[in-house]
Amino acid sequence: MDSEEDDLMEMFQAAVVGGGPAGLQAALTLGRMHVSTVLFDDGRYRNASSARMRNVLGSDGSAPEELRAAGRSELGAYPWVRIIEGRVENASLWDSAFALRGDGHEHVAEHLLIATGVRDTLLPIPGLAEMWGDVVLPCPYCHGHEFAKGPIAVISSGGHAEHIGGLLRGVTDAVPVLHPERVEEVIRSAAGVTIRLHDGTAVEAACVFIPPNPAPRSGLAEQLGVTTDENGILVDPLGRTSRSGVWAAGDVARRIDPRIPAAVITAMASGLVAAADIAAAVAITRDRTL
Ligand SMILES: Cc1cc2nc3c(=O)[nH]c(=O)nc-3n(C[C@H](O)[C@H](O)[C@H](O)COP(=O)(O)OP(=O)(O)OC[C@H]3O[C@@H](n4cnc5c(N)ncnc54)[C@H](O)[C@@H]3O)c2cc1C
Repeated sequence: MDSEEDDLMEMFQAAVVGGGPAGLQAALTLGRMHVSTVLFDDGRYRNASSARMRNVLGSDGSAPEELRAAGRSELGAYPWVRIIEGRVENASLWDSAFALRGDGHEHVAEHLLIATGVRDTLLPIPGLAEMWGDVVLPCPYCHGHEFAKGPIAVISSGGHAEHIGGLLRGVTDAVPVLHPERVEEVIRSAAGVTIRLHDGTAVEAACVFIPPNPAPRSGLAEQLGVTTDENGILVDPLGRTSRSGVWAAGDVARRIDPRIPAAVITAMASGLVAAADIAAAVAITRDRTL
């Protein structure tokens, strides 16, 4: 990095990549602690296809974008937080800090929170993608109750089918569980969905649950050599990753137990916890230099 480049780089105490519930809550916590923070967001939210968000106290049944818009508006009260609409394509070490680069922007931050969420890969069954987040669903805590008149179908297999089917049997009486290989297509019906099977029969249901098969939405963890596994970025209870100075929160971070729902409140909670730990790290660095 030459000195001319140094001059162009703006330095923040913290960077948050991702402006979903995890990143916005983290930015709020950092803003309230007067930590200079830059938040990047390219606006591809996991629950974007859902009209209604459930199981969020105080906002049960509201539109997901209402929460994000309210969060962004509230951040306006904290001039230490800057929001940049755009993607961070590349993260690298820059002395003891992190350089973050995207199309037309370059910033440096002493502490980095990865809150970039996940993207889902649906089963390759015709019809599922068109109704994802509406009557094709991933999480019983988010959308089971609204369909309690049933039946609620599950297209899945193995441990996932057992776990989701078991939860849903507490919500409704009829929970047909179908192995994905039996299903030809899923069609919207007046009552919800018609699931057409390869054997020529069909199953009617109010909605259907499928495994979401999530994968990280960004490669930032890999670029920084942060340890991950198939369930996300490995973090300790404070959201610290394997690399000093890097935290992770929200759906991209591995939960201590996969049965804990990946949901708006858990994302916000982990964002707050990580941000509080970042604020504590900022305070320690500041006090050392006084
Ligand atoms: C269909 C569906 C319905 C759901 N319904 C509910 C519900 O009713 N209630 C509930 O509690 N939970 C629900 N969830 C779960 C909920 O959406 C997630 O748990 C929550 O959004 C996770 O928040 P997050 O901040 O981790 O990620 P996200 O909300 O996905 O936000 C991550 C953000 O980071 C951005 N980003 C990624 N990479 C970069 C990058 N390199 N640079 C800049 N920005 C980047 C993304 O574009 C996105 O804007 C639902 C999930 C799905 C799939």
